[in-house]
Amino acid sequence: MAEDGRPLVAVVGGGVSGLAAARVLAGLAPAALEEKLEGVGVVLLEASGRLGGKILTGELGGHLVELGPDQLLRRDPSAERLCRHLGLGDDLVAPVPGGAAVYSYGEMRPLPRGLVLGVPTDLDALAASGIVSADGVSRAGKGATDAAVISAAELGLAGDGGAERTAGSLLRERLGDEVVDRLVDPLLGGINAGGVDAMSLAVSAPHVARALCGARQVVGPLRALARPAVPAAGAPAGPVFLGLRGGLGRLVDRCRAELERSGVDVRIATPARGLRLLPDGGVEVATASGEAIRCDGVVLASPGHDAAALLGEAAPEAADELAGVPYASVAVLTARYAPGSVELPGQWSGVLVPRIERMLMTAATWLSVKWPWMVPDGSVLVRVSAGRYGDERIAGLDDASLAERLLEELGAVSGVDAQPAEVSVTRWERAFPQYRPGHPRRIEAVRQMLAAGGPVELAGAVLGGIGVPACIRSGESAAVRLAARLRR
Ligand SMILES: Cc1cc2nc3c(=O)[nH]c(=O)nc-3n(C[C@H](O)[C@H](O)[C@H](O)COP(=O)(O)OP(=O)(O)OC[C@H]3O[C@@H](n4cnc5c(N)ncnc54)[C@H](O)[C@@H]3O)c2cc1C
Repeated sequence: MAEDGRPLVAVVGGGVSGLAAARVLAGLAPAALEEKLEGVGVVLLEASGRLGGKILTGELGGHLVELGPDQLLRRDPSAERLCRHLGLGDDLVAPVPGGAAVYSYGEMRPLPRGLVLGVPTDLDALAASGIVSADGVSRAGKGATDAAVISAAELGLAGDGGAERTAGSLLRERLGDEVVDRLVDPLLGGINAGGVDAMSLAVSAPHVARALCGARQVVGPLRALARPAVPAAGAPAGPVFLGLRGGLGRLVDRCRAELERSGVDVRIATPARGLRLLPDGGVEVATASGEAIRCDGVVLASPGHDAAALLGEAAPEAADELAGVPYASVAVLTARYAPGSVELPGQWSGVLVPRIERMLMTAATWLSVKWPWMVPDGSVLVRVSAGRYGDERIAGLDDASLAERLLEELGAVSGVDAQPAEVSVTRWERAFPQYRPGHPRRIEAVRQMLAAGGPVELAGAVLGGIGVPACIRSGESAAVRLAARLRR
């Protein structure tokens, strides 16, 4: 209960999922979400000293740089809609077009046209790219001929998920190892710093899984998804991704200002320590400072392992399930080079490095090419990413050694071997949930356990969508579900 006698809802976690949930609960949601609660008090608890979670716009040598996400996929309109709602629509900018390259057989090679998350649909373009050998192209060609039907069950689209195969097992069988190792794994696996050999295709790329369901081969059915000349029904026209001029930190700042204006009690540096279900149907949220907040409902918008720790007492079985979702840690090196001091291989926007190359770096992005707003003085900005599930080497290196190694590898891969004027290393520990086969079943089980207990809803990347738009959608939906439950 809020001090003024209104029902009180706590949102735990001030990342974008929690912010989105708090907005709906505070009645600030877009009109499309009609389930908002009238007259509810909202308290937002964030453990760290700032809001935003993985969204972090930082500064390097006087330049604003994205240290977390930098681009928003438009196929899910949630993030674009939120930005427009917050008055940031005019600052949404498309990245400067420029395809990525893959480092393969000792060279940066442009991605061939016709790829769908690394799955080739144009074998001539694949052959011309040099990313895989002639044998690799011919093996992928064999998979383009008719074979057994790909069933809904093995894709994880039907049944209880028990028969679901990993994306890697399915695609290796159809396309061969070389295409998977040198293209599909860096692109599809790279989305959540994971690997295709442990990944659920239905969760990580549901549109790809749906296109393959009932097909006898993978190449033909995916052709329609490969950059169609006319956008598919419902898909937005224009760029596939958008960034925000001035950084996504502005979205966080605007959300915070708007929440506070509407009376939400936003508390940073206030970790929740545990939940207790009360006999009267409410929930008590204990904070690290010893406060016990009596609430009528809770949205848990912290990463799965943090949510598990909070639920240990209130819902131990749900906590065990959530604790079973593995996470990958990554690190991001951002390097600024003085104007004119270095030339980037300019026809690309960056490069992906397949796991099979055994390097620390997983990718590099030419930030200053992609987002000119970051470099009004003509500086050159490069981001080098490292770390993926199953590769713990970054944890054993201090920031200086990691930066040195990554700059060396950047030089070997791209020829960019000048000394930067400044570098920064940002570590993201246990940042990317890994969606294993059966993940939706696990999450549904958690939901049912929570539903049977008390008014607690889950939001965030752990549910099955890693991107900022999916996280916003998850926060909004959790708030709508909670509002419906509280209204009953
Ligand atoms: C380097 C990097 C690059 C990325 N690039 C992109 C990209 O370009 N595009 C894209 O769409 N996505 C990208 N992502 C993914 C995306 O940023 C995240 O999946 C998303 O922001 C997660 O949002 P969230 O709110 O669910 O979780 P988080 O951002 O993790 O927020 C959870 C919050 O909960 C807080 N918390 C945890 N425990 C407690 C507790 N006990 N009490 C109170 N608070 C607690 C945490 O401190 C945190 O602030 C990237 C991620 C990273 C790390």
